Amino acid sequence: MKAIIFGSPGSGKGTQAVILSEYLKLKKISLGDILREEVKKESDLGKEVKSFVEKGILVSDELVSRVIEENIKIDNFLLDGYPRNLKQAQHLEKTLEKNDKKLDFLIYLDIDEKAVEDRLSQRRVCKLCGANFHLENMPSKEEGVCDICDGELIQRKDDTPEVIKKRWEIFSNESKSILEFYTGKLKIIKVNANEDKDSIFSDIKEQLQ
Ligand code: AMP
Repeated sequence: MKAIIFGSPGSGKGTQAVILSEYLKLKKISLGDILREEVKKESDLGKEVKSFVEKGILVSDELVSRVIEENIKIDNFLLDGYPRNLKQAQHLEKTLEKNDKKLDFLIYLDIDEKAVEDRLSQRRVCKLCGANFHLENMPSKEEGVCDICDGELIQRKDDTPEVIKKRWEIFSNESKSILEFYTGKLKIIKVNANEDKDSIFSDIKEQLQ
């Protein structure tokens, strides 16, 4: 099974991708996580993408497409954060076709800008394992400390008000063409992502049946 989880930054993609990939036994491929890991390792790729990732600007299509090609050779995956524009969607389709593969469905997390601002400005992530928390809705048991691995919780550099606004604009400009591209090609599961994480997951499960 091959699927995409799609939605604006802050729509809960990362959180749902973790739950859903476990539920459906799919490997979660998160492009943002892969790139942040490279930045942390200070690899050549990491150095090349660092300033883009920190400013919330999209990395070049050529570069991310290379990273994706390396990662989608397997049969069961859930893509998180790719494709993010029409060119990437077309590239993904061609790459899969070359290997006689195709996508099964796309989950679209639909959310309002106001909810995104709130979620991202209050989001904290674990420096070590990448787990997500929210200061009000999903706080860690001990302030500033990850529940899972005891790592330090930090605010992502791209979770500041100016960068959040920019990321929302980029998403709004590109999302329509992606949804149009996939309409009629594969099953699109649209859910209201303004809800809490359990309701969103129940909605996805219901629509998958
Ligand atoms: P995310 O964690 O999905 O919000 O991604 C964090 C950052 O990684 C983005 O702001 C971009 O700089 C980069 N990135 C992630 N996915 C893509 C993509 N599909 N195309 C280009 N850049 C991306």
